Amino acid sequence: MGAKALDPLDLYDVRSELSEDEAMVKDTVGRFVDDRVIPLMREAFEQHTFPMELVGEVAALGLFGSSIDGYDCAGLNGVSYGLICQELERGDSGLRSFVSVQSSLVMFPIHAYGSDEQKDRWLPAMARGEAIGCFGLTEPHGGSDPGNMKTHAKKDGDDWIINGAKMWITNAPIADAAVVWAKTDEGVKGFIVEKDMPGYATQEIENKFSLRASVTGAQFFDNVRVPRASVLPGVSSLKGPLSCLTQARYGIAWGVIGAAQACLNEALNYSQDRVLFGKPVAHTQAMQIRLADMARRITTAQLLALRLGRLKDKGELTPSQVSLAKWNNCRAALDIARDARDILGGAGISAEYVPIRHMLNLESVITYEGTETVHQLVIGKELTGVNAFG
Ligand SMILES: Cc1cc2nc3c(=O)[nH]c(=O)nc-3n(C[C@H](O)[C@H](O)[C@H](O)COP(=O)(O)OP(=O)(O)OC[C@H]3O[C@@H](n4cnc5c(N)ncnc54)[C@H](O)[C@@H]3O)c2cc1C
Repeated sequence: MGAKALDPLDLYDVRSELSEDEAMVKDTVGRFVDDRVIPLMREAFEQHTFPMELVGEVAALGLFGSSIDGYDCAGLNGVSYGLICQELERGDSGLRSFVSVQSSLVMFPIHAYGSDEQKDRWLPAMARGEAIGCFGLTEPHGGSDPGNMKTHAKKDGDDWIINGAKMWITNAPIADAAVVWAKTDEGVKGFIVEKDMPGYATQEIENKFSLRASVTGAQFFDNVRVPRASVLPGVSSLKGPLSCLTQARYGIAWGVIGAAQACLNEALNYSQDRVLFGKPVAHTQAMQIRLADMARRITTAQLLALRLGRLKDKGELTPSQVSLAKWNNCRAALDIARDARDILGGAGISAEYVPIRHMLNLESVITYEGTETVHQLVIGKELTGVNAFG
């Protein structure tokens, strides 16, 4: 056997399983993240702002709605979308969230359930980054139980009148259009609410200690009149928003691998440089076990994500399979980030090093798009056939 040195961040050489096109996507986005994203993210996180200057560049790379064919979108496969998320989140979960929301939660439902006019109007503009979208599902009284939604829409002639409120909505304060889910007499429907529609207001959520390089807000609907042309005609049930979440959770399962890789990389470098008791701390058994455990978790997450991606590209992916990967990979990434933070000792609490930022971000990522408990219950239901949510 040849003694080929293994890549510490890819011990099973998952890269060799990628097609040429997939590897090219990974490398292109990876270079963008190294050159343009990483230098900006620390300050963006500290300033509690999203770096808007990146939007045009992300669009030029074809990263918005990358899985959609036509409408100025790149038409890439599911594995490529996963790799995009992974590379972006190696930079920061805030940027990956921006791209996930725009692609999976806004462009996906417009493409899957929208009219031709809605697709023509919004998809190319969103692909070019000229229009920013957001997705309003969660409400203040409990995001894990979207069936208990209070926001509702009533028909009034050819229009609909929306009343209610949404909470924790990524990009709400900066979005040109919001895909908003509301209860109606005909089931749960998706509405494209535009930022200047009378009665629609947003408020930024201040003082977040997680995902600080991402804008999060509340949405308020006070008799917002929406024309029939702005209702997504293709869906009238919770299946609509849930199908969007499956897409986004899929991207998260990949994305968090990038955050974990950034943390392992930092922990490796630091522990090899840090001399304690006369030798680099990386030369101790205790430290090597911790580093090895990080690599084990990353490798497992990579293999899970790749298998998930291949299932997606064969059209065989199920929501429970996505739940398992979202749960496993978020848990792995968060544990790795916390341990990397500790491996850096006191330096680990400084934003000069990446683990504390990733660690804080991952507290959101493990919560949004279904908390860890929610995904565990999805698997429990898959195994037993019994719904234990209630
Ligand atoms: C930074 C950020 C960005 C977000 N962006 C968006 C967005 O763009 N759009 C959007 O719609 N939402 C968004 N969310 C909302 C997110 O999806 C919700 O926070 C999440 O679904 C959890 O809902 P909740 O916060 O209301 O918690 P709750 O649902 O109130 O959950 C509270 C606790 O109860 C647990 N729990 C829930 N059900 C059960 C059960 N059956 N048995 C036992 N325990 C249970 C949960 O695991 C959790 O620990 C975002 C959230 C954050 C933090």
